[in-house]
Amino acid sequence: MTEINNGFFGEFGGCYVPEIIKEELDRIADFYEEIKDDPDFKQELALYLRDYVGRENPLYYAENFTKHLGGPKIYLKREDLNHLGAHKVNNTIGQVLIAKRMGKKRLIAETGAGQHGVATAAVAAKFGMECTVYMGQKDVERQKLNVFRMELMGTKVVGVKRGAQSLKEAVDAAFEDLIENYQDTYYLVGSAVGPHPYPSMVKHFQSVISQESKQQILEREGRLPDAVVACIGGGSNAIGSFAHYLDEPTVKLYGAEGGGKGLDSDQTAATLNLGSIKIEHGMNTYCLVDEEGNTKPSYSISAGLDYVAIGPEHAYLKDTHRAEYIAITDDEALAAFQLLSRTEGIIPALESSHALALAAKLAPQYTADQILLVTLSGRGDKDVDQVLRILES
Ligand SMILES: *Cc1c(COP(=O)(O)O)cnc(C)c1O
Repeated sequence: MTEINNGFFGEFGGCYVPEIIKEELDRIADFYEEIKDDPDFKQELALYLRDYVGRENPLYYAENFTKHLGGPKIYLKREDLNHLGAHKVNNTIGQVLIAKRMGKKRLIAETGAGQHGVATAAVAAKFGMECTVYMGQKDVERQKLNVFRMELMGTKVVGVKRGAQSLKEAVDAAFEDLIENYQDTYYLVGSAVGPHPYPSMVKHFQSVISQESKQQILEREGRLPDAVVACIGGGSNAIGSFAHYLDEPTVKLYGAEGGGKGLDSDQTAATLNLGSIKIEHGMNTYCLVDEEGNTKPSYSISAGLDYVAIGPEHAYLKDTHRAEYIAITDDEALAAFQLLSRTEGIIPALESSHALALAAKLAPQYTADQILLVTLSGRGDKDVDQVLRILES
């Protein structure tokens, strides 16, 4: 495995937070290490993954999409069929079970687009925990429906009105809450990002994606795929999709970053292609910066990919050339969004459309007897309004 120790992946990762938070994160790290292979814990997690999340989900041979591309067989790992319509609940269900066993009574989270906030609110409701979700005030106004979903499930949504009123200020507010309330409060991080132990822990809970897909493709085709393709925001669905193939050298790994308006524009979220190494959000990783080395805002058509930094293991996989990261533009993603809808009757999330567009781009390099496995991280119902407005304009 690529993790060296103590949350470092080569030079990436670590735990760059104030001492008082570090002490609490060390307690979470120790607890997680102790519990993750405990048979009781594993059994409880497996039960909720089956009955609450709806796993295992299918590995679907997208025959029409395959024919349209005219290259390798395309299989879709259907995370869109999970409860709440995406992969995020794989992680929130895992972490809420940790929080419960640690004796915590309250969850906090931060969210940009609101998808992780909703996945946290759901498990808080399910397990009878108090829950506060921090959002930049700008996001509160843009994401009214997700705010309402969280409130319906009993979560308190706090709009953070300072600074740029964005995700960054929401993260700061969540850390401040944790400093104040760590005795009874658990901070539930939504992607494979942030200080140790979150990148490793989130990877662990999302690895169920490749654990299933590997078994499914072996049953179906009697062999491993030639490549695995996933989209990258913070990197949780991608690292979960890669995990069980990392030690299979014949399987290529591809991540699709939010290329926004293009790599030569200033409007992109292509952190791994354009970023510099920097400490951000408690970890050492690639991050988009301006000429002075200050973090600069990211942009993507897809809210879930619109993130300035990247999970540290992806930074490591890029530098060691185990995985390749390619930027997909808004327009390429929009085309893939429509193509999968038309050919398969499956409307993909805009995030996942980046992975589909990358598969379409890679297809000519492969032959008809080869296999590309694409993670469909979520369903696109949440995006149809936005796409309608774009296509009409
Ligand atoms: C949040 C989200 C993503 C991006 O997050 P990762 O941590 O990179 O997986 C991708 N797809 C969907 C559907 C999402 O909701």
